[in-house]
Amino acid sequence: MEYKSIWLKDKKNNQVKELNKNIKTDILIIGGGITGLSTLYNLRNSNLDITLVDSNLVGCGVTSKSTAKINYLQEHIYYDIAFKYDLDKAKLYYDSQIDAINNIVNIIRKEKIDSNLEKVKSYVYTNDDKEIDILKIEKQILEKFGSKVNEYINNNCKYAISVNDTYTFNPIKYLDSLKEICLKYHKNIYENTKIIKIKKVNNEYICYTDKYQIKTNKIVIACHYPFFLLPFFMPIKSHIEKSYILASINKYQNYSCITSKKPTISIRYYKDKDSYKIFLSNSSIICNKLNDLNNFNSLIKKDNNNPSYVWKNDDLITIDKIPYIGKINKNNPNMLIGTGYNTWGITNGSLASLILSDIILNKENKYEELCNPLRSNNIKYLKDYFYNLGCNLIGYIKSKIGKNKKWYSNVIIKNGIGIVKDNNKIYKVYNKCPHMGCSLIYNEAEKTWDCPCHASRFNLEGKCIKGPSKYNIKYK
Ligand SMILES: Cc1cc2nc3c(=O)[nH]c(=O)nc-3n(C[C@H](O)[C@H](O)[C@H](O)COP(=O)(O)OP(=O)(O)OC[C@H]3O[C@@H](n4cnc5c(N)ncnc54)[C@H](O)[C@@H]3O)c2cc1C
Repeated sequence: MEYKSIWLKDKKNNQVKELNKNIKTDILIIGGGITGLSTLYNLRNSNLDITLVDSNLVGCGVTSKSTAKINYLQEHIYYDIAFKYDLDKAKLYYDSQIDAINNIVNIIRKEKIDSNLEKVKSYVYTNDDKEIDILKIEKQILEKFGSKVNEYINNNCKYAISVNDTYTFNPIKYLDSLKEICLKYHKNIYENTKIIKIKKVNNEYICYTDKYQIKTNKIVIACHYPFFLLPFFMPIKSHIEKSYILASINKYQNYSCITSKKPTISIRYYKDKDSYKIFLSNSSIICNKLNDLNNFNSLIKKDNNNPSYVWKNDDLITIDKIPYIGKINKNNPNMLIGTGYNTWGITNGSLASLILSDIILNKENKYEELCNPLRSNNIKYLKDYFYNLGCNLIGYIKSKIGKNKKWYSNVIIKNGIGIVKDNNKIYKVYNKCPHMGCSLIYNEAEKTWDCPCHASRFNLEGKCIKGPSKYNIKYK
């Protein structure tokens, strides 16, 4: 069993160089996940000089750790949006997801990308009586929008709805191919190039790595959790949810499913040389259940199969379950963002690429207002702002308490230094996340130091392997 995402086994050895000089570019895309790479792909034919940088290897972020369903049946999102806003907004979100799905499928077909795309039936199911009525309304709403929806009652669940026109794929094969296509169109990509500071000077931005500068007119922030805070107030506009996933050799089945509400169980199948069942469970806000080894063990016990791959992943949950895509400042079309995908970022990352490339090319996009990052949320969402703020504060407090838990005999935290003995070697790091000062919790399963506030991660040597932290925690 390996503690890594099943998709990473297919990562091609197609690394490109890191930035090695100061450069100037028309547009800088920060982050090469599904958002950044798809945006670069959409702009491949433009005459603009476009550069994409990634602090790691392109495609190896959150996207490479998802379950990779390409799906518009997302729990009961249309009921939620219709209830809190109105039916028109729910319909617009529905259309946006259908367009995003078509965008991915069309790219795969047009570019003949081998990414194990499969058309599958998707279910949302429940065993909770209260949820049945909500799912029945969700079915009616989807039918009103033109979707063909079936309903089920069987021995395994009290009630389920399903649609036939959804997909699954292998995200790393998809992103590796997009990267190669973009390079053929002479778009610049630099890997292992982390942006640590952005400064606005007159009408230009200067983006700094630890050694070089990139001067640019426009920036697309596509780095999942934005690594700067102001003026975007991410901690009150979102919270982070984590989940644990495994892949075990299993007979292929042509469906995917998810529970309608928490506790979430999500299943899909994957066939390549072998076929696998991919099982997701143990979801919670990032600062809950801090003992990762326990969480992995309980996941494995729940599925009761021998997993080949086990991993965890996290995503941003927004106030109204609609992503933040577009201009960060209403009067400034030069700094754009795509984030807050509510665990549906394969479709929403693809949607972001459509909106962001339209804004860059001065074209109208009918979803720009829906996803406007500066939208003022409906009053019904007021308590969610407080909830998010609470999650952040509790995360900070729990990190301070959690660091003192004696879960593993090979780990000591003393005077702010985390010391781990692994394979007869001693590793020392500063036990504080450089992002916002939360204490780090050791994850014995994956041998990383993880931040329970905003999900930054560091390896045993203290190298930051996942943001939003911009810095390492090496102890000298
Ligand atoms: C458990 C789980 C399961 C999921 N399953 C699904 C699913 O089945 N279907 C679905 O639609 N969605 C799913 N999602 C959601 C989806 O995976 C994400 O929303 C989406 O992949 C995010 O894409 P991204 O491009 O924003 O981020 P990423 O893929 O993380 O890309 C961001 C990139 O930015 C880089 N970066 C970060 N900071 C910097 C910096 N300072 N400088 C330069 N580069 C930087 C990173 O290295 C990374 O490569 C799931 C999420 C979770 C948590």
